[in-house]
Amino acid sequence: MPSPDQKRAIVTRQVSKTFGGVKAVKGVDLSIAVGERRALIGPNGAGKSTLFNLITGDVPVDGGEIHVLGRDVTRFSVERRARLGLGRTYQISQLFLNLSVEQNLFLSSAAATGIGLNLLSRWRDRSEDRAWTRDVAEQVGLTEHLFRPVAELAHGLQRQLELGMALAMRPRLIMLDEPAAGLSPAERQTLVRLIRAMAPDITLILIEHDMDIVMELAQRITVLHRGSVVTEGTPDEIRRDPMVQRIYLGEMHV
Ligand code: ADP
Ligand code: MG
Repeated sequence: MPSPDQKRAIVTRQVSKTFGGVKAVKGVDLSIAVGERRALIGPNGAGKSTLFNLITGDVPVDGGEIHVLGRDVTRFSVERRARLGLGRTYQISQLFLNLSVEQNLFLSSAAATGIGLNLLSRWRDRSEDRAWTRDVAEQVGLTEHLFRPVAELAHGLQRQLELGMALAMRPRLIMLDEPAAGLSPAERQTLVRLIRAMAPDITLILIEHDMDIVMELAQRITVLHRGSVVTEGTPDEIRRDPMVQRIYLGEMHV
């Protein structure tokens, strides 16, 4: 019998996390289809990044289950989940600023295939990896910046590289935590175009405050508030939902 989760990229069941006294995530059930474009929204402190960390394994769950592509990964390490095809970016950048764009992309792809980081000194020999690295650079619009140290890149280009770092891992699912934060309108447009151009079989889960971007990229939206899912629906349904409007209005008065 095929498991009912087989066509689901992500299933969480009653996932919870408490930090000290703070219940960051409280009994969250999610079900995201393979190839779906899903946004996760909610006010600051709602638990969005924590939920990402629970799914990727960066933070262990207190309770509940996490299934990725039909496998129960609740007790898998970050690396093992990444090898199943889970790629992500972080709200705080994880780029190697002193290395070039090409070297960053290479390290990300090498980490995913489990070659190990000690091979950086020998990376010039790995022509297959280098070809892949160039493919990814092109996908994220960085071909002309391949050999520049990351520290020299404008903020928008660094965000493009973060997307590239996730794509370099050949992910089947990609999780982006506020990819457009701090970007200019023009930089946002570029990033949205690159995300839209991703292969349609890659599942996308996006945390984003910019509602224009959310509406443009997401097929479905999950709204988190105080650690719980308050509602889920299409962009139109969420836009019209009075409870969602109250949550955001409420935040503005705090
Ligand atoms: P969001 O991403 O929606 O803004 P977070 O998941 O970052 O929310 O945070 C949810 C709650 O959990 C907040 O109250 C935050 O302070 C707390 N929190 C998150 N990570 C940690 C941590 N590592 N240690 C302690 N508290 C944390
Ligand atoms: Mg966050």
